[in-house]
Amino acid sequence: MTRLADLTTLHVGGPAQKLIYATGEAELIAAVQEADSNQTPLLILGGGSNVLVSDQGFPGTVVVVQTQGNSYEIDACSGGMLQVAAGVSWDEFVAFTLEKKLANLESLSGIPGTVGAAPIQNIGAYGHEVGEVIARVRAYDRTKKEIHTFTASECGFGYRTSVFKAETDRYVILDVTFQLRRGESSLPVLYAELAKELGVEVGARVPTRELREKVLKIRRAKGMVYEAGSSENIWSAGSFFTNPIVSAALADALPPDAPRFVQPDGQVKLSAAWLMQHAGVAKGEVFGGARISDRHVLALTNAGSGTASDIVELARIAQAKVKAHFGIDLTPEVRFVNI
Ligand SMILES: Cc1cc2nc3c(=O)[nH]c(=O)nc-3n(C[C@H](O)[C@H](O)[C@H](O)COP(=O)(O)OP(=O)(O)OC[C@H]3O[C@@H](n4cnc5c(N)ncnc54)[C@H](O)[C@@H]3O)c2cc1C
Repeated sequence: MTRLADLTTLHVGGPAQKLIYATGEAELIAAVQEADSNQTPLLILGGGSNVLVSDQGFPGTVVVVQTQGNSYEIDACSGGMLQVAAGVSWDEFVAFTLEKKLANLESLSGIPGTVGAAPIQNIGAYGHEVGEVIARVRAYDRTKKEIHTFTASECGFGYRTSVFKAETDRYVILDVTFQLRRGESSLPVLYAELAKELGVEVGARVPTRELREKVLKIRRAKGMVYEAGSSENIWSAGSFFTNPIVSAALADALPPDAPRFVQPDGQVKLSAAWLMQHAGVAKGEVFGGARISDRHVLALTNAGSGTASDIVELARIAQAKVKAHFGIDLTPEVRFVNI
């Protein structure tokens, strides 16, 4: 029996009662409908890079989305419109867009997982989010039992959220349409660390391929890429917590060197990594077989023999330290399954 540990980047999780690999859209919808009509619990899985599955596994049907294919039109004026199946590898898709001389996804290079999962938490990195370039999302609505096409404004994109995340499990994403700019010049570089690596000022534009290379270099150094079959992989789900967004009053009470990013509504986004480090959560800290990454404090890792329970406990310890030190709650970015 396949353990879900084999299908997730944290490499933890017990067996699924039933496991289906859906390689076609009709097959995917049929598997979902069958589970729903039998009132069987259902888990949709892409690359398993943002889930923490219980050691007991999943008491129902797990459908792994492996649908493939894309169609695209590239026009001299309006740029590229690309409709991409949910099961396509996210990073292979990003590389494909750069080969086609289309820009705007280069900062999101190296993020593991599938195209279909990208809108769920509105993936983001280096100051850019995927919601900025999504034109449409086609999804099967399990409540209405019909396919609905969401326009970008209907997707409700926000920081690490969307309608698809807010109503967990209601929508099965079938494909995503991206609108990309023609050209080989990147979006402005918004992160100082990346600008330094590129040898440019913050705000500069650079060739998209060069930006991708530098992003991959920085991500690899932090263990933030996950390459199939590579022994260099660190077993994590990327950043385990989101950056908290708090009131201006709460942010003002923090030490002056705490990074602060004022939001359009006046609230302030803080750095979860800074809060952890200054609350006494150390890189390399362990609980059982779980370990805070040596390279990136926000990544909780499975050191090899870790269980889901170990990771949950290490997360709880980190949350308790930040709460005791700063009175701030850290919220997991990772989805807990059957925990
Ligand atoms: C090393 C590493 C680095 C990372 N870096 C980043 C980063 O920089 N930025 C960032 O935003 N994220 C990052 N992540 C998190 C993760 O890669 C993204 O959230 C990614 O989009 C998850 O894709 P997945 O296919 O693996 O989804 P899964 O983990 O399989 O699923 C995640 C959620 O989406 C749901 N889901 C998946 N596919 C579908 C579908 N077709 N329809 C409906 N629901 C679906 C699942 O049910 C689950 O709730 C990182 C993870 C790792 C391991």
